[in-house]
Amino acid sequence: MVDYATQLKESGLKATFQRMNILENIGNHGHMSIDNIYNEVLSIHPSLSLATVYKNIILMVEKGLLVEVPIEGQKSKYELLKDDHIHLVCTECGEVEDKAHNMATDSIFHTMTKKENFRLSKQQINLYGVCSYCQEAIV
Ligand SMILES: [Zn+2]
Ligand SMILES: [Zn+2]
Repeated sequence: MVDYATQLKESGLKATFQRMNILENIGNHGHMSIDNIYNEVLSIHPSLSLATVYKNIILMVEKGLLVEVPIEGQKSKYELLKDDHIHLVCTECGEVEDKAHNMATDSIFHTMTKKENFRLSKQQINLYGVCSYCQEAIV
């Protein structure tokens, strides 16, 4: 069980039930659009507006608790801050899959940043394409 209350407080935010609920939902689903998140939160907080949920998500992105994954032609998805990983993003169904770095990818980024004398602070590697399910659906 992840302690979202502590995470919120450590980021300087009040640990409200709706913020914890948003984090919990994203934690359970992996990657969610604001609409998905809103629908889930709505089942517990029926009086909440989309604007409030949106505002809270943006705030938690600013504070580094959440990460936005942009998807061309679709609404962004949001995930919890995790260890660096690579995204396989399907532009047909919008599914986002996490893939761990391996020695080959680690070596590329290490060599590149070192060569450029670039002090890396944050990274997001997104590979866009069509997932295997959608490839079958198209054929
Ligand atoms: Zn797909
Ligand atoms: Zn991810």
